[in-house]
Amino acid sequence: MHCSSPFTTLHVHSNGFIPCCPAWFTNPEDFRVDGVFENPWDAWNHPKFVKLRQMWLDSDSSGCKHCIMLLAGSKFMDEPRHWMKPVMERGPRDVVFANDLSCNLHCWSCRSKPIIEKQQDRVFKQTYSILDTFHESIEYMSTIGSGDPFASPAWLKILQTMDMEKHKKLKIELFTNGLLIPRYWDSISHMHDNIIRIKMSIDAVSKDIYEKTRLGGKHKDLHKALEFNSKLGKEFVLNMVVQSENFTDVPLVCEKAIELGCNKVNLTMIRFWHQMRGGRAKFDEVNLARKDHPKRSDFLKMLKDNEELLKHPIINEDMILPDGHKIINF
Ligand code: SF4
Ligand code: SF4
Repeated sequence: MHCSSPFTTLHVHSNGFIPCCPAWFTNPEDFRVDGVFENPWDAWNHPKFVKLRQMWLDSDSSGCKHCIMLLAGSKFMDEPRHWMKPVMERGPRDVVFANDLSCNLHCWSCRSKPIIEKQQDRVFKQTYSILDTFHESIEYMSTIGSGDPFASPAWLKILQTMDMEKHKKLKIELFTNGLLIPRYWDSISHMHDNIIRIKMSIDAVSKDIYEKTRLGGKHKDLHKALEFNSKLGKEFVLNMVVQSENFTDVPLVCEKAIELGCNKVNLTMIRFWHQMRGGRAKFDEVNLARKDHPKRSDFLKMLKDNEELLKHPIINEDMILPDGHKIINF
């Protein structure tokens, strides 16, 4: 069994690099490369990445104990490809940017106050350095997992000015809360053909719950954005992070997605995040994966009552199903 991710994928953070979500590794420190690199090849072939690649070439999965794909029993390749080497000669194929925390919202699950990063020049420079250096190998980029690409001044400028002649075949995923797309869509018309997917995180559709969980977001703007974004002819995916304050909206989000013709709804359980307002205590308060959570039985009843709806082909509910299935408990 071999995993191809360390040979193909680079996650770019503001002060470092990692091949996958840090929470998936047994010990994230083992495979996180910190620092600023003038030459991105030094990051891509850093000894920590070389070590992870060698482990996978040896079918050793011990570094990836919490990987969602391993836990979900996903299929990995039987034999490594000839180009999969510890020190890679080709650059990354998939680049996932999470290098700017700037966002127009300040959801409590993500941060304790609104953030627009001051060091926009650094974000701009780092992003262009990666895109330029690896422009021959990059086929896909996702932007941005750490904030919103339309609220980040650097990312908005990158999207508005990127030379698509140089990245003709690039496929782009916009990872966003979606609210600013109606305002800026026309300003990125040169890359409309490259945008394959809009992944919009919403967490709720009812007014009270949306405005309570997505702080700074307005319910009327959400519905305007949902209508607008669903008609752009792109793969349209909704993400909902489920916890005790929004689980009653799960059926409403699913029904809305079906009504809009979405391609997918990803339902996942909330996971601890160090910048979360209220820290570990707040996480425990809302984490329905906790067996003694006072609302857990209501949550399980909601899942049972909506069994048919959750089986709809666009709903990806694997990660929230209860015992006997897979509530993932990190
Ligand atoms: S098994 Fe999972 S965590 Fe490990 S390298 Fe592959 S995708 Fe990343
Ligand atoms: S919209 Fe996303 S990036 Fe922005 S604050 Fe909320 S969870 Fe964080």
